[in-house]
Amino acid sequence: MTDTAASIITGVSAPLAGGRLVIDLDALAENYRALKLLSGSAETAAVVKADAYGLGIAPVARTLWAEGARRFFVALPDEGAALRDVLPEADIFVLNGLFGEEAAGIYREKRLYPVLNSQSDISTWEAHGYDTDRPRPCALHVDTGMNRLGLTFERAQALARENALTGAITPLVVMSHLAAADDPAHPLNAKQFESFQRVRALFQECDSSLCNSAGIFLGGDFPGELTRPGIALYGGAAVNGVKNPMRPVVTAESRIAQVRVIKAGDTVSYGGATVARDTIVAVCSTGYADGYHRSASGALVPLRDASTTPGAYGFIHGRKVPLLGRVTMDLTLFDVTELGPDAVHVGEYVELFGANMPIDDVAKAAGTIAYELLTSLGHRYHRHYVGGAV
Ligand SMILES: *Cc1c(COP(=O)(O)O)cnc(C)c1O
Repeated sequence: MTDTAASIITGVSAPLAGGRLVIDLDALAENYRALKLLSGSAETAAVVKADAYGLGIAPVARTLWAEGARRFFVALPDEGAALRDVLPEADIFVLNGLFGEEAAGIYREKRLYPVLNSQSDISTWEAHGYDTDRPRPCALHVDTGMNRLGLTFERAQALARENALTGAITPLVVMSHLAAADDPAHPLNAKQFESFQRVRALFQECDSSLCNSAGIFLGGDFPGELTRPGIALYGGAAVNGVKNPMRPVVTAESRIAQVRVIKAGDTVSYGGATVARDTIVAVCSTGYADGYHRSASGALVPLRDASTTPGAYGFIHGRKVPLLGRVTMDLTLFDVTELGPDAVHVGEYVELFGANMPIDDVAKAAGTIAYELLTSLGHRYHRHYVGGAV
């Protein structure tokens, strides 16, 4: 706990919302400290793109700043501008690059650093960048195997030569991005690490950064001088196939709108799946419009083989309860029969994921990853931030 512990409310007021999110900023802070420890002598930055993975950039960024984070990564210039209004002193890097000459003004105005990903980014920054005490500060991204963004090694080599003469830009960070670090045994990890050592050697005067969350867990020399965790800060599993050591940060709950009994042989939800036994159903007021994906739908739906893949589970009164039928836009059904008659009531909440129902289990049942569940949460929830330095 920080000594400025507080609690803030945003989003829809609780009695009017179909669901609520409890966002535990102390858990976020603890996850940051854990990643800092794992990063060893490397500085630990924070990736807060996509509204801090759907959690809300302002309370998240303030909490991480209070924990000592000084460098932040967003995806888009607009996200950088929003973050600047929250953290006047932070170093803010924009991962997706410069967005052409038209965007250069916002970089200057908000003191953002573009991550230069291509020759056209570099030329535009040379022509339209701003100067601080150094000319045209930026980061450089060199591709080592992801083949998404980034300069080729040859281009980086030429740039290092040219820029040593002209000093036209000032790289503060040289980075690359790991493509398969969630699988520690994947041969691409070592290959990318080797390639990145050659990149580092080109730009010795600036900090090197290779690791996302999963990369940090690779340990050894991987962290370099600066790590860039995202998902692990927010409680998601970074590495496949091992127990997730991070604390859950978000608990998402759905309000029960109605409890009904369905007789054996009757149908339920869209598509009319037939239930085999008398079933007590909690009808809950969130659906795929709230980021609870339709692909999480329960057994007996055409999306799934009923016998082997039951869909996602909710959690209420100490028990896991299976999702029943198809998830709809605004409503989701859970089978609460096992809790017995009169056990659940209108106005109570079923946990969709969080403290009791691991987000990665729910994501897996929906054929996706925690990143996608978090960034899909949407604007219809009541949001309650607890703890932290908000
Ligand atoms: C999103 C992103 C990260 C953070 O990745 P996580 O897997 O969420 O830790 C780091 N670096 C880059 C380039 C990214 O795009």
